[in-house]
Amino acid sequence: MHPVIIIGTGLAGYSVARELRKLDPAQPITLISADAGDFYAKPMLSNAFAQGKNAPQLVNTPMEKMAEQHQLTILAHTRVVSIDVAGKTVHTVNDALPYHKLVLAIGADPIRLPLGGNGADEVLSVNDIADYGVFRGRLEGKQHVTILGGGLIGCEFANDLASAGYQVTVVDPGTHPLSSLIPQGAGQEVQQALESLGVQFHFGRSVQVADIAADGDGFTLTEDNGDILDTDIVLSAVGLRPRTTLAQSAGLPTNRGIVADATLRVADDVYAIGDCAEIDGQWRPYVMPITTAARSLAQTLHGTETPVHFPAMPVLVKTPACPLLVNPPPRGETGEWQQEVAEGGSIWQFINQAGLMTGFVLTGKIIAANRQRMISALR
Ligand SMILES: Cc1cc2nc3c(=O)[nH]c(=O)nc-3n(C[C@H](O)[C@H](O)[C@H](O)COP(=O)(O)OP(=O)(O)OC[C@H]3O[C@@H](n4cnc5c(N)ncnc54)[C@H](O)[C@@H]3O)c2cc1C
Repeated sequence: MHPVIIIGTGLAGYSVARELRKLDPAQPITLISADAGDFYAKPMLSNAFAQGKNAPQLVNTPMEKMAEQHQLTILAHTRVVSIDVAGKTVHTVNDALPYHKLVLAIGADPIRLPLGGNGADEVLSVNDIADYGVFRGRLEGKQHVTILGGGLIGCEFANDLASAGYQVTVVDPGTHPLSSLIPQGAGQEVQQALESLGVQFHFGRSVQVADIAADGDGFTLTEDNGDILDTDIVLSAVGLRPRTTLAQSAGLPTNRGIVADATLRVADDVYAIGDCAEIDGQWRPYVMPITTAARSLAQTLHGTETPVHFPAMPVLVKTPACPLLVNPPPRGETGEWQQEVAEGGSIWQFINQAGLMTGFVLTGKIIAANRQRMISALR
């Protein structure tokens, strides 16, 4: 029998492989990955500095051990260049590999800002363990990091780098931290906490030009109001875009992500999961949706068609200066945020036009005590 082929060895690919192996000890499973295939916790990338961890220390389980533990064939450092859906075959540069069923777990790419200047290509982003190794290396002996983007990932890096002793500036066109997820008041709580660590925010600004500084060491950034900012390193954290090109060129449906239904099915015997997928109309990155979807997909691959059901899954933002639990309302929902001040933090509820609470944010020390109550009250 041809194997189930999974493209990608991130959380999504490995979660599906492990869940399927639990259900079927005999099913041949092959994973193909453009990277080294080592298993690591990607969320650690934005809070590992203050803990003094280098890239190899972030690896939980090396690729060889994953293969042995779960009886997997893993082709690392191997990029899939095309998929023949009718012929049920994936192509790498050197091989054509037939599949029984195919799972796309190929993740998302960092969005690149359209920057000018001779330093534009030197702007870094950290989306995998190899990026983290490069970033850490570049930081050696440097002091000032400018982060483009004050969203969830940008604020996590700001907290981590400031705690590790770096001078941090965050540039963001919005009005407050995490502006696409939380109300301004909650954002101000995060901002004040990070400012108390020395982080500087430039809101309402974007960077247009990143020039290598005249002395060749560092950058001169030009903001859209003409202000100049000198910095040692530029980290871009302006968001991710699901990888859809491989699917698109195979004739598979794509929109924001690779379009999958509630059973993760994209086409006959082809499935998508993780940061690359748009499941039942929604893009669902983050750890909990991925591990939940992996359990359903394994059942489907094993022969029992199982639609995924996502319960409320708030995200804990790793900004220890101001802990934050975020469950944003559905995209496009109209309504208003209401605040309840509590001892040691605050509770923000998003009330939609029908008067129902469809999102919430908890800040500070009150998270654990209120988490379950808020999840139960969600509509
Ligand atoms: C800095 C950071 C912090 C985060 N913090 C949190 C957090 O605190 N909580 C949370 O819930 N989520 C967090 N997330 C999000 C979470 O980590 C991701 O949603 C999740 O790890 C995505 O897993 P994935 O397997 O879909 O993608 P990836 O981990 O990106 O894996 C994609 C895989 O596909 C492979 N691949 C791609 N194209 C090809 C190809 N053509 N051929 C072969 N292989 C290919 C890659 O090599 C890789 O192995 C964070 C993300 C980042 C970047």
